[in-house]
Amino acid sequence: MNPSILREILKVTDRPGVLSLAGGLPSPHTFPVEAMREATAKVLADAPREALQYAASEGFGPLRDWVAAHLRGMGLKVEAHQVLITTGSQQGLDLVGKVLVDSGAPVAVETPTYLGALQAFSPFEPLFTSVASDLDGPLPDAIRALPHDAPGTRFLYVLPNFQNPTGRLMPEARRQAVIAAAQAARVPLVEDNPYGDLWFDAPPPPPLAARWPEGVVYMGSFSKVLAPGLRLGYVVAPPELFPKLLQAKQAADLHTPGFNQRVVYEVIKDGFLDRHVPTIRALYKTQRDAMVQALAQHMPAGTEWRVPQGGMFFWLRLPEGCPALALLPQAVAAGVAYVPGEPFYAHAPDSRTVRLSFVTLTPAQIDEAVALLGHVLRRHLNE
Ligand code: PMP
Repeated sequence: MNPSILREILKVTDRPGVLSLAGGLPSPHTFPVEAMREATAKVLADAPREALQYAASEGFGPLRDWVAAHLRGMGLKVEAHQVLITTGSQQGLDLVGKVLVDSGAPVAVETPTYLGALQAFSPFEPLFTSVASDLDGPLPDAIRALPHDAPGTRFLYVLPNFQNPTGRLMPEARRQAVIAAAQAARVPLVEDNPYGDLWFDAPPPPPLAARWPEGVVYMGSFSKVLAPGLRLGYVVAPPELFPKLLQAKQAADLHTPGFNQRVVYEVIKDGFLDRHVPTIRALYKTQRDAMVQALAQHMPAGTEWRVPQGGMFFWLRLPEGCPALALLPQAVAAGVAYVPGEPFYAHAPDSRTVRLSFVTLTPAQIDEAVALLGHVLRRHLNE
């Protein structure tokens, strides 16, 4: 386990006066404080001793039923007994690593991929394969070429919806091709979907798990639609795998806080999210639009990006001669922070890539921050 250079660098981005586009945090304005207050009082009034007692490792029954019904609404064939409530979906990644990865076992990831997944899997010492990817996701031919002779690639970790870090969305045709390729290569998929509800104009196509239930482990989270401080996520696994994940979960923390599970169930049981999530989409879309404008206005020629259709992130490729990691100290000195793309690659990082969050600053601050970034890059390029 190696220390993260990135974490050291990003410490300085919290300095007062620095406009940070580096955060991976949802906007705190979206947290439903009043609904949480009422639900907390109700749980403490109705079932205080049950809520404060140890509980089942699988999770709170009514919440598992809710998750199963919610996922059936997205086209998944899921029964509540396949739903494991986890302490954030980050714990789901850890459990999957524990159960499926041995030292030296091949694990495939997208290029680039979620840094937190690389960190979760790494202690189990996998041999990472970076699957070549384009703006639509991993390339089917690269999946077909994964090693599938015994012991085989343990799984391919994929983020089809508004990926962290690139913001990309896997279109319908690519989803079908990815499934076909994974089936041909006999490589199971681990599908991580914390951002799928945060679409702006149209919902994403159905999850991969809806098409290949026996070959996909699916993960969801309440972090981006309610609040990350609750640490509530879930894993849906094929029946053969579920007992192993449950065993790992039990050993890890016995169960996810039952109090939090009951409070969240109380908040969401009568359709709260159907009213609440559209307000998050509307807020984030305004901020996304502000960044679209700011980038067009302030970035030097040669900077590349695609406008994300949901989620929280833009992914930029800076002009030639602009190494993102090396330029970060200058950017911070100028008053703006971003995340360099390098740590999101398992191999061969593209040093000109940058992740920008558009959800933590106001539209006016986004304009100011992007203008500062543009200024730093122009100065570096002697423009
Ligand atoms: N997966 C991805 C792709 C993420 O971006 C995050 C949060 N940054 C997580 C999983 C973990 O989310 P949580 O544990 O809060 O559910």
